[in-house]
Amino acid sequence: MQLSKLLCFIGIHEWKNAGGYSEFSSSVAEKHYVCRRCGKHKRDIITK
Ligand SMILES: [Zn+2]
Repeated sequence: MQLSKLLCFIGIHEWKNAGGYSEFSSSVAEKHYVCRRCGKHKRDIITK
């Protein structure tokens, strides 16, 4: 198994901003990320 795959396997992904951004309200938004190595997606709820 490649080291990069192993890192993803144990949950250490290399997130890059996927460009998605949705705003729930004036103070809460959601940002989208995708892992460069395995393609997994995640989203973060952020408060401004
Ligand atoms: Zn990954």
